[in-house]
Amino acid sequence: MSDAPITVFGPDFPFAYDDWLAHPSRLGSLPVESHGAKVAVIGAGLSGLIAGYELMRLGAHPILFESGQLGGRLRSQPFEGASDIVAELGGMRFPVSGTGFYHYADLLGLQTKPFPNPMTDAAGSTVIDLEGETHYAESMADLPPLFHEVAAAYDQALEEGARFSDLKKAIRAKDRARIKEIWNPLVRDWDERTFYDFITTSPAFQRLSFRHREIPCWKSCGSMSPIVTVISVFSSVVWNVYRKVFGGGKPMAKAIGQRGPACNP
Ligand SMILES: Cc1cc2nc3c(=O)[nH]c(=O)nc-3n(C[C@H](O)[C@H](O)[C@H](O)COP(=O)(O)OP(=O)(O)OC[C@H]3O[C@@H](n4cnc5c(N)ncnc54)[C@H](O)[C@@H]3O)c2cc1C
Repeated sequence: MSDAPITVFGPDFPFAYDDWLAHPSRLGSLPVESHGAKVAVIGAGLSGLIAGYELMRLGAHPILFESGQLGGRLRSQPFEGASDIVAELGGMRFPVSGTGFYHYADLLGLQTKPFPNPMTDAAGSTVIDLEGETHYAESMADLPPLFHEVAAAYDQALEEGARFSDLKKAIRAKDRARIKEIWNPLVRDWDERTFYDFITTSPAFQRLSFRHREIPCWKSCGSMSPIVTVISVFSSVVWNVYRKVFGGGKPMAKAIGQRGPACNP
């Protein structure tokens, strides 16, 4: 397998935005006569703010319309009387494969640090409580065999049901044709079917007990989430390698809104 990093070039969005950002011509240019043209952008979530930012760089005059709040689903809520502590009510952990996201975070000088995902060094330790049975773990080795069997069955189910290694290889290579070849049958067969359905009907889990099938479905990704969404996310992120933005996700939205392209050297 190539050593190329996995970047967010997902199966359902196979467009290399990071390549465009890295290109000397960036996202292209507008003819001089269009400079100052007004462009309506609906929504001031991160997508709308970045669209506005890039439109300004091109010389256009974006006007953002927002019906809710700046930042959209990035909602970092400070606690009263403790402004340095925030509750993340929306996006909070950003995979390092999100090269587009970190392009803008770096541009804005935002500081990030590893997100304490369960079982990572950043977390230090993880407590898993399953119906009153508590397990304390600093690494996978601390967990009983049941968890290892579930992890192995999960990997196998993804392999057998979604050609997971091939899909990740195609994403790494940014090979659109190959991604489509693997992804389109998955959408045909699994669109509107849940994570729970995928797990319980997979041969890998069928061989195991009901207890084995229950455990992955308690996980945070939500047993009723569409399986294609789960596969799309897992295949285009390096699992567990996430970072968080100091002060929460929302400051990024605020910084883009306040500083605009002038921050670009
Ligand atoms: C609870 C939760 C946790 C999440 N956790 C993560 C995470 O850990 N990591 C991660 O990467 N992602 C996470 N996400 C997803 C992430 O927050 C979103 O993908 C991202 O914020 C979407 O940004 P956006 O600008 O595309 O859309 P939005 O943030 O939804 O922005 C759209 C904006 O458009 C506005 N709008 C809509 N219609 C109109 C209209 N007609 N007129 C005017 N304004 C309009 C809305 O009010 C909104 O502000 C999470 C989301 C939620 C809800």
